Amino acid sequence: MTYIITEPCIDVMDKSCVEVCPVDCIHETDHMLVIDPEECIDCGACEPECPVEAIFPEDAVPDVMEAFIKINYAYPDGLDKVAELVASRIADCPPPPIAGHRE
Ligand code: SF4
Ligand code: SF4
Repeated sequence: MTYIITEPCIDVMDKSCVEVCPVDCIHETDHMLVIDPEECIDCGACEPECPVEAIFPEDAVPDVMEAFIKINYAYPDGLDKVAELVASRIADCPPPPIAGHRE
């Protein structure tokens, strides 16, 4: 299993999670960070660090965030693939406004 970063990270990207990951498997992409499922050791250290509660164990990702499982799993296919899937998700389902980040 792996951990999954979901919608609340989009355009927030404060990177608190990156600092605690022991295997450096959390990576920055255009609009959000993603976890490389091939590198994640499932330690759970990142989950409580996220101020917007964007991180879930894969088997606990809420149904409405299911698209983000595919987005995190796309990391080994390259940043362009992740960007394409994130753009598609934003177009299909715009994230709610966040003060200071989005209108
Ligand atoms: S669960 Fe552990 S290894 Fe996986 S992304 Fe989070 S901190 Fe890194
Ligand atoms: S701590 Fe949360 S919002 Fe910040 S980069 Fe990590 S997942 Fe995204």
